[in-house]
Amino acid sequence: MQRDFLFRFISIFLLFFFTIKSYSSNLPVKFEGSEHMTAGDKTKLFFSSEEGSTGHLLHLPNGLALTYGQLIALGDFYGLPKEPIALGKSEKERTTRFHAAFNTLAMTEQTVAETNQILQVFNFEKNEIEEGMKRGEKPEDIYKRIEKETTIKFNCITGGGCDSNWWMNPGRYLELQKTNFDHFGKNALLAYQAGHQLALEEAIEAHHIHDLNKLEIAYAMDGFAAHFLTDRFASGHMRTPRVELFSHVTPSVVGSILSGYMHGEDNENGLHVHNLNRDQWIAYGDRFYFNDCNKENIERMQQVLQISVNEIFYAYENGTMPYENEIAKLIPEPNEIKNNSHLDISSLFYWDEPSYKLYRRTNLDNYFDKHWTTNWWGWSTLLLLAKRHGLTIENQANLVLSGYGEIALRDGLLTDKDISNYVRYKVYKDN
Ligand SMILES: [Zn+2]
Repeated sequence: MQRDFLFRFISIFLLFFFTIKSYSSNLPVKFEGSEHMTAGDKTKLFFSSEEGSTGHLLHLPNGLALTYGQLIALGDFYGLPKEPIALGKSEKERTTRFHAAFNTLAMTEQTVAETNQILQVFNFEKNEIEEGMKRGEKPEDIYKRIEKETTIKFNCITGGGCDSNWWMNPGRYLELQKTNFDHFGKNALLAYQAGHQLALEEAIEAHHIHDLNKLEIAYAMDGFAAHFLTDRFASGHMRTPRVELFSHVTPSVVGSILSGYMHGEDNENGLHVHNLNRDQWIAYGDRFYFNDCNKENIERMQQVLQISVNEIFYAYENGTMPYENEIAKLIPEPNEIKNNSHLDISSLFYWDEPSYKLYRRTNLDNYFDKHWTTNWWGWSTLLLLAKRHGLTIENQANLVLSGYGEIALRDGLLTDKDISNYVRYKVYKDN
């Protein structure tokens, strides 16, 4: 998920969605009475044949105790940046990669304090938004205002820089964003399936030794995997050619930034989607999770989360894998990759497998332009889109760290004072 939308997503997620249960005394967060229930924490977990319950704390080997919903939310903060799960070549390799990613959250002791701090930043965001909105501020303006502060906090908490030069030392959180292929398209499904498979195997083991704590770990794995599943229900994550933009645009840092712009367009404008069961509906993206227009999409997502959890309990109760792959039939697929019927906006980019080419919408400003071209350049496209939508500080930092500071400064892309002053000083010193 790209940064600017990430904040909105997580915060709205928390604001309307999560009942954050404090798991330690110094984290007094509780959104009791929230009108909107969380998808993750609305999911009922089962531990016996009795009624399932929500908000159950799942205990991890390192001492962390998190709800299923918190595990979903932490999917953007843990993992191995150099080993995206979906890029594993076989099912076995993907499962191994998922396990390694999950262990970065579940096994090390330092994670306990770190996760606590991440949840506190979520809480800070939630308060800022609530207070700001009371004063009549628009959510998008609030996010813009606190964007730098929260980015630095997340960077600092995950091992990166903390002061005004924070951006020179990217922490794991920022490193994960650079290769977040697991959060888009078919890769999101592959990453989820790898984790869900591992969780099912864990549940079967738990069955054999009658170990409820092992069942908790199976649920926790499933929650971590479900991050990718929930991303897959956001329209901006459905058809954006995230990997191809990274690998076919030179430099790749620009390709990644461009995928963020497409993510934003599709999130906001929504897409007509269908699934293998032939259901049809409209899906919106991260910023619209709780908007009325996205209600059906969210209900369908919650349904899928519940099936995922039910399958884990089935494996625990019976000691066998569930028969049918019900979830695969319920995943939204965009009706159109380009735009042939004017139902949706035209894809900003699309990957054409037969010709092995990356197409761009010819007119960037006209969402309904039906022309695409292969004759385009990453940098000039970036300039046009940045002029219209701005460029996040994280992406400004990425450009400078990748060696494009001087040209980015010349082209007016560096609007952050700390970053632009650094580049200016460097240019001055070098000359
Ligand atoms: Zn994500």
